[in-house]
Amino acid sequence: SQIQTTPKIQKLTQEVINRIAAGEVIQRPSSAIKELLENSLDAKSTSITIQIKEGGLKQIRIIDNGHGIKVEDLPLLCERFTTSKLRSFEDLQQISTFGFRGEALASISHVAHISIITKTPDSSCAYKACYADGALSPCGRDGNKDPQPCAGTNGTQINVEDLFYNVLTRKRAFGNANKEFRRIVDVVSKYSILNNHVSFTCKRHDQKSPTLHTSQTTNRTNTIQNIYGANLASQLITFSFENTDYPHSVEAIISNTIYSMKKFLFILFINNRLVDNVSLKKAVESAYSAYLQRGVHPFVFLSIKIPPNNLDVNIHPTKKEVRFLHEEKIIESIQEQIMKKLQESSSSKTFITTS
Ligand code: ADP
Ligand code: MG
Repeated sequence: SQIQTTPKIQKLTQEVINRIAAGEVIQRPSSAIKELLENSLDAKSTSITIQIKEGGLKQIRIIDNGHGIKVEDLPLLCERFTTSKLRSFEDLQQISTFGFRGEALASISHVAHISIITKTPDSSCAYKACYADGALSPCGRDGNKDPQPCAGTNGTQINVEDLFYNVLTRKRAFGNANKEFRRIVDVVSKYSILNNHVSFTCKRHDQKSPTLHTSQTTNRTNTIQNIYGANLASQLITFSFENTDYPHSVEAIISNTIYSMKKFLFILFINNRLVDNVSLKKAVESAYSAYLQRGVHPFVFLSIKIPPNNLDVNIHPTKKEVRFLHEEKIIESIQEQIMKKLQESSSSKTFITTS
């Protein structure tokens, strides 16, 4: 005969609450990279360098040449809901920059150690600051938390160390550093195609030459060639279109009906943010079903612009899955355009070979 004891309901400590919330936003090293990249791009950087130790779990270092952070903003930087990009709820509807909720750096600071060196063009020196659990913390043994002047060039360098040091179950889930590194390179690759006017470098700290390096180009196909090879780059169809009934515009780079690859490489940006949309992905792949055999797949890059107030990016904390107004109509229109282009290109190929 066992006596059941009823457990007492207790409130979690703020520290645990913050850590759980942070884990929702920062699920793995590559999600930290995505947030950091978006911040560097928001800061109008033209050159971004990333260095990775142990798949990002030991260290992520990102160096940009953007507009930097004002020294007086440093104390607030890693506090939740602090942002330079949003003032009111109405702003949230209009925002066109990537981040907008001031949650990324705060979240990272709850699950890792952050140090930042930043310099604005109008400041004569750079400043260094360190963060833990949403607030400034001492960088050195002297216990001083205040940002300290130091040498540095215009832009921002952010160091993220020991990701998930305080969430051991999460940390243990990442057995394979190489796999995490590949995910990081994948995210950087995709952003470098969209932002072909920016130079990206991504390297492992223990290797001399970078795994990924793109230079500033005027043409996305050049960047695709650099990353995925000349074979793909020579089989691409580039086009763009606009629709005013269900306002959206699309820039597309898609493989033709002859090219195929083992896995479907679908790169989707909506308003410059790398996102997922399962229905669109399915619709796009089905446009190829008349041409590609079973088991092989196309390459499709889409950059879609939608009026920000038609977009709902807040359904998921990572902002990865996106819904938008007139979704079905827009998907239909994109699928139609792709089918049209494929048809044109396949008939011109037939024409060439038979003439
Ligand atoms: P959000 O991007 O949503 O504003 P973040 O937590 O990602 O929130 O960043 C907080 C703020 O820190 C940004 O609004 C921006 O002002 C500043 N910031 C972060 N990273 C950089 C960077 N690389 N260069 C310049 N400013 C930055
Ligand atoms: Mg951000």
